[in-house]
Amino acid sequence: MSKYDHIRLSAYNANMQLPKLGLVLFTFGNVSAADRELGVFAIKPSGVPYEDLSPEKMVIVDFDGNTVEGDLRPSSDTKTHAVLYKHWEGINGIVHTHSTYGTAWAQSQRDIPIFGTTHADHLTVDIPCAPPMNDEMIKGNYEYQTGFQIMECFKEKGLDYKEVEMVLVGNHAPFTWGKTAEKAVYNSAVLEAVAQMAYLTEQIDRSAPRLKDALIKKHYERKHGPDSYYGQ
Ligand SMILES: [Zn+2]
Repeated sequence: MSKYDHIRLSAYNANMQLPKLGLVLFTFGNVSAADRELGVFAIKPSGVPYEDLSPEKMVIVDFDGNTVEGDLRPSSDTKTHAVLYKHWEGINGIVHTHSTYGTAWAQSQRDIPIFGTTHADHLTVDIPCAPPMNDEMIKGNYEYQTGFQIMECFKEKGLDYKEVEMVLVGNHAPFTWGKTAEKAVYNSAVLEAVAQMAYLTEQIDRSAPRLKDALIKKHYERKHGPDSYYGQ
């Protein structure tokens, strides 16, 4: 028994969703789950295939990226998770995948335009794509700097991480987050579906128009506003 068992289990369950949802291949991808009171998060160990994972193998790390408990090396993306937890206090789960369509948009260095109501059900703006990192950042503490690249993109675009729970990192791939690890995985699957739909939309009509403001507002507020009426 450890005081970290609950986040180990939550991180394990969330990680196991990624291959089931078709969001990862081999050992790609990672999910973490944080406990704010303990000031730590549980994250997937580096390079271990999903079928060999267990809750006990999740590594406990603090918000500065130091391993607190665990025998295995944490995911190579751990420092990106640590930076985001440290600076964005409202999040308790983070997911990183190289899901195909989301990654294709990231490699094209393009925001994903808001074309339809599926997108508007989750956010009212284009899914932002942070610019590729500069050479200095890449040569230095790369994974740590990736976290700052994401936060800088949100600052520049005037976005709120509590409203927009996803980003593409240019030339790289998507990151998503949420109040729980489960919500972060959900957001990761939503991003991939929206990325695929947007790609197909542009194949059919290269100059497809963006969604009208009235529909953006309607769909988002139906699910999120003070008068939301979607679901039970
Ligand atoms: Zn990656």
